[in-house]
Amino acid sequence: MEQHFPKMIPKHCEVCKKTDGLLRCGGCKTYYYCGREHQTADRPTHRTTCKTIKDSRTKIEDEEAKIRARPAYDLEMPVNVLDDPAHVGRLWTWQPVRPYLHEMLIRSWRQQGIEDALAVYLEILRLNINDNQGARFLIPALYMRLGRNQEAYDFLKGWALHAAGRPETKELENPSLMYLHVKNADPTEGVDLWTGRFLQLAFMSSIQLLKTRLGMGLDLILEYRKALPPGAPIASPREILADVHGPYCGDIIERFAESLVNEDAITKKRDEVDEQLADLFVATAKYNEHFWPMMLQPAERDFSTRSLRYTFGSREEAHLAFTYTYPAWCETPMALETLRATVTARK
Ligand SMILES: [Zn+2]
Ligand SMILES: [Zn+2]
Repeated sequence: MEQHFPKMIPKHCEVCKKTDGLLRCGGCKTYYYCGREHQTADRPTHRTTCKTIKDSRTKIEDEEAKIRARPAYDLEMPVNVLDDPAHVGRLWTWQPVRPYLHEMLIRSWRQQGIEDALAVYLEILRLNINDNQGARFLIPALYMRLGRNQEAYDFLKGWALHAAGRPETKELENPSLMYLHVKNADPTEGVDLWTGRFLQLAFMSSIQLLKTRLGMGLDLILEYRKALPPGAPIASPREILADVHGPYCGDIIERFAESLVNEDAITKKRDEVDEQLADLFVATAKYNEHFWPMMLQPAERDFSTRSLRYTFGSREEAHLAFTYTYPAWCETPMALETLRATVTARK
């Protein structure tokens, strides 16, 4: 596995890395410990960070109090803008609310645990569904890092449908959901939504990884079946899945387990996914020539400054999508190797 670059990992004790039975630091509510002993041990190191995070939280609370008090300079703004369902998803509209949303985004960068960061990004979307801050681009990869592939796929598909103008927002049961309306979509379906028109590089990288996981899950099932002695009773797909699925694709493979009764059906699905992966790969490569090389060659990543402003197809754009999605690729065994093989095969 390639070097794991960001700090953010699932919740863990700062000292011993244990992941169960954790207590949260009461000061910053961001760091975790397995118990008092390790919290005390880490205190000298953690003190400064703890204060910085705590101050940021205080700032969020102050901004919230200001909004609730409704500043006199914006009497147009509804008094209960933070709670009224008619306004809550459109907070960006109101200037006085922007510092609050900005602080939320900063808070998300300071989260140590993926679960906590995801929760903040989802909260930013709940407050402002138009997402002027771009929180949505990080969400699918974070879902995948938590093994929540189905939710990642639903999110990606919802956005793709929205970008393609279908369904029209006004046709939705709850228009304020915009692209958050897809539930339990089929992750094996075709990729026209992504290849027909360009969406967004971080989303392209996420869908490519999701399908890569799917393909690898199908391979595992095929290998498992081949390893069975001839004439051995074939276990039910669900039994096979219990044996082969890891945290990488289990949730999405399980949903169509019953349709994988025979080898032909699995091989067919596997071929379809392969074709989809090739189409996605080409669409992304055409759109931004820097992206795949950046994922595979460390030399391509040497950026001393990070810019949030970029032009389409630029190296800066590739770098941003890279930072958002690379950890999820690294954490999927063999995913980058598969990508490398694709690049080599196309040369
Ligand atoms: Zn510990
Ligand atoms: Zn703390």
